[in-house]
Amino acid sequence: MRIKKLSTIVANQIAAGEVIERPVSIIKELVENSLDAGSDSIDIKLVNGGKSLISIKDNGDGIFKDDLKLSLVKHATSKITTSNDLLYLSSLGFRGEALSSICSISRIMISSIKNGEKQGWQIYNEFDSMDTNIKLSNILEGTLIEVRDMFYNIPARLKFLKSDKTEYINVEKLITAYAISNPHVSFSLSHNGKLLKKFNRVTDNNDVEKRLSLILGKRFIDNNSYFKSTFEKIVLSGWVVNPDINLPSCQFVFLNGRVIKDKVVNHAIKQAYKRYDIINQNYIIFVDLPKDQVDINVHPSKYEVRFSNNRILHDFLVSTLSNMLIKNHKIKNEVSLD
Ligand code: ADP
Ligand code: MG
Repeated sequence: MRIKKLSTIVANQIAAGEVIERPVSIIKELVENSLDAGSDSIDIKLVNGGKSLISIKDNGDGIFKDDLKLSLVKHATSKITTSNDLLYLSSLGFRGEALSSICSISRIMISSIKNGEKQGWQIYNEFDSMDTNIKLSNILEGTLIEVRDMFYNIPARLKFLKSDKTEYINVEKLITAYAISNPHVSFSLSHNGKLLKKFNRVTDNNDVEKRLSLILGKRFIDNNSYFKSTFEKIVLSGWVVNPDINLPSCQFVFLNGRVIKDKVVNHAIKQAYKRYDIINQNYIIFVDLPKDQVDINVHPSKYEVRFSNNRILHDFLVSTLSNMLIKNHKIKNEVSLD
């Protein structure tokens, strides 16, 4: 066979695989866009676990009419200009890949009104193509994005999607994580027409625990210890649940507000729990460190990160968590001695 250049659509479909694996990957990208747009209210609706429809409505800054077409073009972003900007990222997104990837594997519609403009606009892609049409929209604020029939044009990927219930549960966990790290943003999540989660935003920082109780339940609030510790510009904070209490799936780690899945951080957490043979490992951990000490640009999904000093962060995390776990044990022992 001779060498030939793949068509843009096929090239984009292949590249999309790195960012989009299942409905939750689309939701992650869209929620991050809504947060980057300064939204304080984000409503998500799914049909069939997100396979048939993902809809996300925010009240953020919106998109200029003239930028709508560009928003669907690969490597087009309003968030960075030069590679230097990568050193001091203040937005969750920066690669300009999400919307173009979604456009190449689904039917997408974006309705948006730019803050301060009188008229909103809507853009959508043609059937089986990345060509787009634009028309007037009656949207009153922010942005509404609808993604239909994901992977309708890539059967090889469609068959790897799990049951509607499993896909929904993945999304629920992600929205729970964002609700925890963004207490000043309201989130709602509906599935097949039913409103299943609604977390109202808090305006007062004193109410953050109240909101956590709404998200994770009263058992979480009644059985946790808060911690905050600083070492060489690394700030660790969060809540450790009393090891006697088992909460289903309460393990959340954030890095500078991002949801991450990092080997160094996870290893440190496991090591601390292992020291005391604790089975019930429930925690919320916020790792905050200067932007230039972490590289987010490791993989398109941005779950992986690279730290400039793994060792220091790892050991600081182990010692902070160990101290918290000992403290919890002590409290328990004192209670049982009485
Ligand atoms: P990135 O987030 O990396 O810039 P995306 O493909 O996710 O790339 O989005 C492309 C651009 O579209 C963004 O840079 C932003 O300007 C705009 N955009 C996307 N979603 C929204 C939204 N919900 N509100 C406002 N602007 C948005
Ligand atoms: Mg984005």
